[in-house]
Amino acid sequence: MLNNQDLSRCNTFGLPCVAQTLFRFEQVSQLSALSAAIKEYAQHRVLGGGSNVIMHPDLPGLTIQVANKGIRLLCEHDNFWLVEAGAGEVWHDFVAYTLEQGWYGLENLALIPGTVGAAPVQNIGAYGLELEQRVHSVLAWNLLEGALYEFSAEECEFSYRDSMFKRAQPGTWLIVAVRFRLPRQWQPLLQYPDLRDHVSLQAAPTAQAVFDAVCEVRRTKLPDPAKVGNAGSFFKNPVVQAKQYAVLRTQHPNVVAYAQADGRYKLAAGWLIDQAGWKGREAGAVAMHPRQALVMTNCGGAVLEDVLNLAQQIQSDVQQKFGVQLEQEPVLYA
Ligand code: FAD
Ligand code: NAP
Repeated sequence: MLNNQDLSRCNTFGLPCVAQTLFRFEQVSQLSALSAAIKEYAQHRVLGGGSNVIMHPDLPGLTIQVANKGIRLLCEHDNFWLVEAGAGEVWHDFVAYTLEQGWYGLENLALIPGTVGAAPVQNIGAYGLELEQRVHSVLAWNLLEGALYEFSAEECEFSYRDSMFKRAQPGTWLIVAVRFRLPRQWQPLLQYPDLRDHVSLQAAPTAQAVFDAVCEVRRTKLPDPAKVGNAGSFFKNPVVQAKQYAVLRTQHPNVVAYAQADGRYKLAAGWLIDQAGWKGREAGAVAMHPRQALVMTNCGGAVLEDVLNLAQQIQSDVQQKFGVQLEQEPVLYA
């Protein structure tokens, strides 16, 4: 346990933050001690790579930093590889490793920051692939009960950028490992325009080519958190009923939306923010990125108040202009 730990470099937005006490979780044998330790504190929380959190400057109680490693092939089925990764593995490195082994299927999720253990929390997704499509099961420790569970993909209740882990009372679950079901009959997923139209993916692309293209596109479009603080998309794409979409389309014929399997429509939040006049605009020490209106950036020295104020102004403007409520994606750590 370490007291008064500076976490300003442990969140990709670069917000100033000091944790009262930090516990680095590195191996499963620490779990029972961890469940005993949380009883000594009024509050506790779980931290991965800090790429989907907005931090309060003072974090009281215990902050658990997940850092347990290990990747292993559990078994080879006729149709899939079953691969397990420790929660503290770096997500992108894990994706690259699976490709090196010839276990394909995660390449569309390349270059997403953060850890393996956080990936099921918001069911990470990019370029037409969501984590749930590759999850076999999730091993999670219930910190309050002191017991280990294995949840099937169905039991994780995954939905768009959401899961039962994200909805649970914070501090209930510590994901220890994730088991992936990676298909032996691999097919590229190229429905997103940036991949469909990519010059390197026109003829029988390999998984490595898809991985390389995803990395290249992301490096071009998105700010690198190592250089410009950000937490990725600041808002989720709102999913609305067909009736609401029809009204919106009458008022705004250019509205960008995608039909969902359940009949609803996913609106591109970046388009709504752009049309509300916020793309590239600064407010205090934060701004909405000029190339990607959905990404809020730290212009230098931003504090939590700057972030919450800008988020609130955008939500209010989008609500007023389109009648659509934007939901914040990063988790507020307080
Ligand atoms: P953290 O930010 O540390 O934590 C996020 C949440 O998960 C918190 O509630 C935390 O308590 C919980 N958590 C973390 N680890 C565990 C664990 N082991 N057990 C239980 N709970 C845990 N997301 C996408 O979905 N798609 C993208 O394409 C994408 N691109 C991004 C690009 C950039 C530049 C950035 C900065 C972010 C992007 N994100 C994206 C968001 C983010 O990278 C993902 O949500 C990622 O999975 C967060 O991982 P993390 O380890 O940093 O989690
Ligand atoms: P993009 O490809 O320019 O697309 C803009 C928006 O339209 C995205 O939000 C995407 O929804 C949606 N979209 C595009 N083509 C679609 C299709 N064929 N079917 C359904 N929806 C479609 O987006 P981008 O900003 O460059 O990001 C590329 C991918 O990386 C996206 O999947 C995005 O979610 C992901 N990403 C996520 C974060 C994050 O922090 N969450 C940050 C950066 C990038 P979806 O967002 O639902 O895919």
